[in-house]
Formats: sequence, C-alpha cells, structure tokens
Amino acid sequence: MANPKCPRCGSANTARYLYGMPAFSEELEKKLNAGTVVLGGCMIHERQPRFLCNACKRSFGATAFTKDGSELIPLISSISFSVGGFFDGYTQIEFRRTAGGAEYAVSDRFTSSEVRTMPDKEWTELVDRLYNHLFLDDWKRRYVDEGVLDGTQWELTVQLDKKRKREYYGSNMYPAYWKRLNKLFQPYMTEAEIPMDDKGAEGE
Ligand SMILES: [Zn+2]
Repeated sequence: MANPKCPRCGSANTARYLYGMPAFSEELEKKLNAGTVVLGGCMIHERQPRFLCNACKRSFGATAFTKDGSELIPLISSISFSVGGFFDGYTQIEFRRTAGGAEYAVSDRFTSSEVRTMPDKEWTELVDRLYNHLFLDDWKRRYVDEGVLDGTQWELTVQLDKKRKREYYGSNMYPAYWKRLNKLFQPYMTEAEIPMDDKGAEGE
C-alpha cells in the first residue's frame, strides 16, 4: 500500500517509520533505499510520528495531544466546518458530541436542516478519519492567499471544552487533504439536501 501524502506540503514522497529493531531483509533494504520506509529507532513512545515526508522533511501522523498532555480525540466536543464566500454565503455543518454518539445539522444562507443523530460508532469513525487519515493535527492553522480578495473562505473548528479549541482557516488556499475533507462531509450535506460547492480544485 502506498504511503499517504504529506499533510504539510502535499508530496507523495513519504516514508513509513519502522520502530524497534527490524529484521533486515532484502525487501526491507529495498524499501529503505527507495525511501518508502525509514528507521525510527528503538525508543518507543506514545507520540511518535508514523510517517516522514522526504520532500519537506517533516514527520507526521503522531497521535494528537493537547498542550497539557491529554490525548485530544476523546476530548472533542464539537466539530464545525464552513465554506463559502461573501457573495454566495456559507454552507456549514456542525457536529456535537452527545452521550450516545453525536448530533449534527447542516445549513446554508437559505435553509437549515433538522438536527440528525449519528451513533457513537459513526462519530468515532469520523474523528478517526480526520486525525488518522487526513492528519488534521499536522495541518497548518492558516491557508491564506494574500493576493486574492473575496473568493472562497473556509473554516474548520475542533472544540474541546469551553476554552480550548483548534481552528483551521483558509482564504483561497487549501490544505493538501482538502478534497478528502470535503468528501468526508459530503454525505451529510447530501442527506440534508444542502449541497456543498466543490470549491478548491487543488489537492486530493
Ligand atoms: Zn512534506
């Protein structure tokens, strides 16, 4: 299986870390030479990254933690995503964690959907996709093309408790996993019959 592309620079030239003492084989040597595998050393700790980008030399794919050292995913209380522009208005989706899973609603400038619920399994999967497949914790916080006025703006907010949140924002510029992010939310938009414009051609 091909390694995932780098969430920072979008390069497909990435290596998977191999931790511990590997059993050397011809196959492993080939992978090391090709740069698809890199040795991570013998120290095993909970924050080790899963991948290294050969292009920008950043590691990515570590488990997300808060500043005070708690694992981030179990703390997430809501996720909201909006995309649009000044003239067209914004399409927004918001998920809120509940005791049994999550509830969510979609809205645009014309209408708001009813609040729907999703089971715990689906919420867990959504968050797993965001962090372990789209590598949200490795994204930049701001993607801004200063040369373009108006155009498309987007915002993704992950709320932990009242005080702590992680905000990602873009203006006419998109992260490497932008299309995957849109795809993740698309089924909920479709279900609510509020389509999301496929903005931002770049990225996968
Ligand atoms: Zn990179």
